[in-house]
Amino acid sequence: MENLPKDLWHHLAEEDVFEALKSNHHEGLTKQEVEERLRLFGPNAITAQKPVPAWKRFLLQFHNPLIYILLVATVVTFFLKEYIDSAVIFGVVIINAIIGYMQESKAEEAINSLKKMLSANANVVRDGKRISVPATELVPGDIVYLASGDKVPADLRLFENRDLQIDESALTGESVAVQKERAQLEKDTVLADRVNMAFAGTLVTYGQGGGVVIATGDDTETGKIAHMISEAVSLDTPLTQKIHAFSKILLYVILGLAAVTFLVGLFHGQDWVSTFMAAVALAVAAIPEGLPAVVTITLAIGVRRMAMRNAIVRKLPAVETLGSTTIICSDKTGTLTENQMTVQKVFAGDQEYDLSGSGYQPEGEVKPVDGTALTSLPVALRECLVAGLISNDSDLIQKEGLWQVQGDPTEGALITSGLKAGLDRDALLQTHKRLDVIPFESDRQYMATLHHFDEQQNVIYLKGSLERTLIRCKDAQDAEGNPLALDRDKITAMAEKFAAMGLRVLCLAMQRVPKSETTFDRFHSQEDAEQLTFIGLQAMIDPPRAEAIRAVATCQRAGISVKMITGDHALTARAIAEQIGIAHPEGKEEKHRVLTGRELAEMSDHELLAEVEKVAVFARVAPEQKLKLVTALQAKKHVVAMTGDGVNDAPALKKADIGVAMGIAGTEVSKEAADMVLTDDNFATIEGAVEEGRNVFDNLVKFITWILPTNMGQGMVIMVAILIGATLPVLPVQALWLNMTTAVFLGLMLAFEPREPGIMKRMPRIPDSPILSGEMMGRIVSVSTLLLIGAFGLFQWALAQGETEEVARTLAVTLFVVVQSAFLFNCRSLTISLFRTPIFSNPWIWGGVGAMLLAQLAFIYTPLMNTLFQSAPLTLQHWGLMLAYGVVVLLLVEVEKAFWRARKARKTKTSERTGSSEQQSLS
Ligand code: ADP
Ligand code: MG
Repeated sequence: MENLPKDLWHHLAEEDVFEALKSNHHEGLTKQEVEERLRLFGPNAITAQKPVPAWKRFLLQFHNPLIYILLVATVVTFFLKEYIDSAVIFGVVIINAIIGYMQESKAEEAINSLKKMLSANANVVRDGKRISVPATELVPGDIVYLASGDKVPADLRLFENRDLQIDESALTGESVAVQKERAQLEKDTVLADRVNMAFAGTLVTYGQGGGVVIATGDDTETGKIAHMISEAVSLDTPLTQKIHAFSKILLYVILGLAAVTFLVGLFHGQDWVSTFMAAVALAVAAIPEGLPAVVTITLAIGVRRMAMRNAIVRKLPAVETLGSTTIICSDKTGTLTENQMTVQKVFAGDQEYDLSGSGYQPEGEVKPVDGTALTSLPVALRECLVAGLISNDSDLIQKEGLWQVQGDPTEGALITSGLKAGLDRDALLQTHKRLDVIPFESDRQYMATLHHFDEQQNVIYLKGSLERTLIRCKDAQDAEGNPLALDRDKITAMAEKFAAMGLRVLCLAMQRVPKSETTFDRFHSQEDAEQLTFIGLQAMIDPPRAEAIRAVATCQRAGISVKMITGDHALTARAIAEQIGIAHPEGKEEKHRVLTGRELAEMSDHELLAEVEKVAVFARVAPEQKLKLVTALQAKKHVVAMTGDGVNDAPALKKADIGVAMGIAGTEVSKEAADMVLTDDNFATIEGAVEEGRNVFDNLVKFITWILPTNMGQGMVIMVAILIGATLPVLPVQALWLNMTTAVFLGLMLAFEPREPGIMKRMPRIPDSPILSGEMMGRIVSVSTLLLIGAFGLFQWALAQGETEEVARTLAVTLFVVVQSAFLFNCRSLTISLFRTPIFSNPWIWGGVGAMLLAQLAFIYTPLMNTLFQSAPLTLQHWGLMLAYGVVVLLLVEVEKAFWRARKARKTKTSERTGSSEQQSLS
């Protein structure tokens, strides 16, 4: 096994490939062989190459204008023989870089670990059985089956091919999908032309195929170029970019101010050394170093919270965008509904039947609707059930006594209904060996199979939507199987009756064909010939998810409109939409319209724009049309979340502001295109993610509102001192101390603030609106001013009392700590009263304040810190003053909050009053 014929696989004959790999087309490898080879070749995973080595990432932490200033300050103070200051500043630079590095790595790790939760499976044949295994467990020699939507799990030589098309752009850059072939190719065929191979990491866009694994992990073609494919997660989002831009402007402003300060100091006749230090102090104090890091961390915390609620974010910007979502377009089947299909109605041989029982458990009765009992199975009914049983790619399995579907729930329901009538599926599959298949695709809306029937004939069964099936029928049969004229109107009326009950209707048809016909070639070429015999309808219920009903209501309260998109019949979709609350039965209003894919296709872009917001349900929509919908909604300035699971959904998922793929039922292609993946395929999870998205944004605004006064307050204190020629109340090293400790111990804790109760009762955030409202700016300036008054006042008071400069400065610095601790509690909610916020709902706040207190006590009372930071012990009286001032600030901010609340309440009251008078005048 060690010396495989590398790079010749496309050139070998198929037998030789299997020979070299000691594998077998039908049986695959044995469990034992797999284990041995796994030991030999290792797991099928590409060794992740760290895009930027750790040392480089650490050094990058120093690539920051603030750090440059500090490094200059280190050098200058060193030459001025201020060795302690020099060492402290340098120490802080290093600590800052370490913290920054750790936080960045943590955030990256959080996002990377999500990728592992999304590991793919592969369909293989082992020990003669088709099973699904994690793709990482593939070994050379494994037999792998591919279907449209899959990501190719390893390098394969193809030995089976049904119209297989693969998008190899990831490997070759060629964007047109490659049509695969079974062939033996020239030795020097280039990679892009090796049509008998499939390469790991490429995407199956169409058809099916089978191949034998010839290379795994780093030995695959993708593995060989892995160093070129950067796996780096980007921590950039629109918000972080905005903040970077803001920081840059701020930096120039502050540097400008520092320069002015320097000049003013010299003008006042101070020596240039102390003026320089004052300018440095200003720059250090006023720049919010903690800001970018905390933003990233808050986003990462949001990602983790979403993951705990089953939403895996693939692209970080989605965390922000989610908070401003205005429309969610959701698939019906499986997302809004349970995907637990049970056939309740059958119409066959001109006779309607009821089926009892629930779930996939094959227990229940088949009874004519007139209430009579069935003594024997009528021919037409039997035919209809048989078609459902064998024109079927799924299976029922019993797990811990529970019946479950392996495959498509729609097909599972058809198996259960057949078994309820006492039919033996295994025996039928034996006698009706399958010769060919046209697999189900949403676009096609049907599936057909060709089977052996008897010595003279084969038989075609077709099942699918009523519209697509009935047009291919030429006649029908009565209960006993005798030919009957086809009454399209009656059948359509029956199907619509079922659909209006919210049932998904499948139409079944068949045709006996000569023995010579063993493939669907003729069938394909006679697309629109009426040649089939209608054999019946089976209608199944798929109940709405209870959580989805609640989540839809929550979304609507939160100003998010939910639209249903489905391949199902308009009447079925409407009935389910009404049950879920997306459409309303009394909805004569335009708002609850149902639009079909056909109508959609006929609309001009202009007409669609006028209509699209009013439509609640899009039925019989082809996946390609989703793109048109997203585009129209975005043109209306909506932030659109769109779900999808198939290959053809990928363009719409990419185009949507938030593409949402299904973790269970979704194809790899759709997951690749998505911004977010739901591990439970549940609509309620999207709503949960929106909640978390709003929370992340809330917490960011809280943090920014909290942190800016620290910098602005210190900046003002230093500026004022310089302008009036007073002693500096805060030294550069002390400003460093303040900024570092308060951001990490206090501010960061706001990232853990839980959701506010009213979070889903307000309208979505407007995406381009400024991060801070005028109200918040006002609060930031007020608190900064209060800090200025407190710190400067206390500093001057202490000097007047005859205290040393060290004590006075320690007072000023500690006042900042005390006031910022108090303000932290104010910032737990920007609107809701502090006294209504549960005290312990965010334990991190308390932990942070405790840690801050300990650090500050060390700063004040330990000799070492006294030397390093030129601080000095304080008295109880000092503490009393500072705490009192802290309480005053806390209360003042609460008064200000109350003022805004009252104003808003008055506003909504007046608007309600005018609103209701409007209504009155209308009626
Ligand atoms: P949805 O978007 O609700 O999942 P689909 O596109 O899967 O809808 O299905 C559309 C229609 O195709 C259904 O109404 C049904 O008539 C038919 N259909 C669904 N699944 C199958 C299947 N496995 N075989 C044949 N026909 C199917
Ligand atoms: Mg479906």
